[in-house]
Amino acid sequence: MPLVSDAFIDGRWVPGAARFVVRDPFDDAQVAEVTDCGEAEVDAAIDAAARAFGAWRQKPALERGKLLAQLAAAMLRDERRLAELCTRENGKALKEAVAEVRYAASFFDWFAGEAGRAYGETIPGSRPDQRIVVTREPVGPCALITPWNFPYAMLARKLGAALAAGCTTVAKPAELTPLGALAIAQLAEQVGVPPGVINVVPTTNARRCGAQLLASPAIRKLSFTGSTAVGRELLRTAADDIKRVSLELGGNAPFVVLADADLDEAVAGAMVAKFRNGGQSCVAANRFIVERAIADAFVARLLPQVQALVVGRGLDAGTDLGPLVDDRSVAKVRRLVEDARAKGATLLHDAPIRGRLVGPVVLGGVTPAMDLWREEIFGPVIAIRTAADEADALAQANDTEYGLVAYVFTRDGARQQRLAERLESGMVGVNTGLVSTAQAPFGGIKHSGFGREGSRHGLDDYTHLKYVSTR
Ligand code: ADP
Repeated sequence: MPLVSDAFIDGRWVPGAARFVVRDPFDDAQVAEVTDCGEAEVDAAIDAAARAFGAWRQKPALERGKLLAQLAAAMLRDERRLAELCTRENGKALKEAVAEVRYAASFFDWFAGEAGRAYGETIPGSRPDQRIVVTREPVGPCALITPWNFPYAMLARKLGAALAAGCTTVAKPAELTPLGALAIAQLAEQVGVPPGVINVVPTTNARRCGAQLLASPAIRKLSFTGSTAVGRELLRTAADDIKRVSLELGGNAPFVVLADADLDEAVAGAMVAKFRNGGQSCVAANRFIVERAIADAFVARLLPQVQALVVGRGLDAGTDLGPLVDDRSVAKVRRLVEDARAKGATLLHDAPIRGRLVGPVVLGGVTPAMDLWREEIFGPVIAIRTAADEADALAQANDTEYGLVAYVFTRDGARQQRLAERLESGMVGVNTGLVSTAQAPFGGIKHSGFGREGSRHGLDDYTHLKYVSTR
């Protein structure tokens, strides 16, 4: 299939008056020149989503589900091309891009099934002649704003649920990586998703586009994945029109290793939880909290695996860590590591930074005074702090305003249960470094946001309950 770079509005590819260049983070090569949507295009997309809503919600849920299943299959058929495109716009290692395409497709597949299971209920009435019926209705046209770290998956999680529920959509992908969303729209068009149901409006003016989407009374819901700062601002603005909002925001995941843990499992979990997508993930382990008794043994087993990571061009076979997405990300990692070292952290492993290629770093002796203990690193840096015991580890883990995911490694069943219950996060990985999967509810608490993506609960964010009392 040809590379598409025009905005997708009302089933048409719209070149627009202005364009912007998408570059490969590895070498700045031009990947595409994309429509830079202004107010007119965003308005047209909102109108299209509003017009398409009536027919789309009326379409039998099983037929909407069938289209989602076809979209999933189309993605998987085109996996190689989609993965390469993702690596080119985002920089990630090709094997990670392949994994992302499969992960994204799994959400379309999952919601293909959930579409037909949007059950309502009947409730016993209080009089013999009262019938209480509850149905689930689509909330309406939705705005979907997504980040650059998983260009397919972050959109698929929202789009799958929205379409299954009967909502239409206006998607605003990140400026750095708009091509993934356009590629999904292209496949959706190919499998026969009707015009207006999916609109994609790339833009260099995210703020204006966001404001426009939130100001429009036609848009009934915003689903946003991105930074806590932007999410907070959008939530405030959404209040004006009392719009529904789901927010998947930043994380500061603790990765707790207790003294009785299987250290090989813990190290394997750490490698996934930290280095997936080069650490550029909201569920990346940010703070390693290791019980003092086994801290040296953990580090001794970890270092050889870290040292074996291959840093390079994402498209090259064998690359584990591609470049970080932009110079700002590189500068942030550099700043956080320098701050930690200045405040006394020990460098256990270092790698030179070449352009945007940032090798893995392991720091010991980390303290809460260091910026990387409070901020999301979003890069391949392992920051290790020791804990005296389980209670200390738990207190350290919960000492953050974020609450997306927490990881804990212990062989003791009672400890597993205790910690899973007491860790303040929307998700907990026990003896695993990977929790994301389409059939489970992904989402956070506290400053990590609210709303759940995936699972049977994923539909809730895109539906409201209607209660009908009949006499
Ligand atoms: P990140 O730090 O991951 O880039 P952002 O929160 O800046 O996170 O971006 C996530 C998404 O939100 C992107 O699509 C971006 O363009 C968009 N965005 C950024 N600022 C705004 C804003 N003020 N209004 C609406 N969308 C925004």
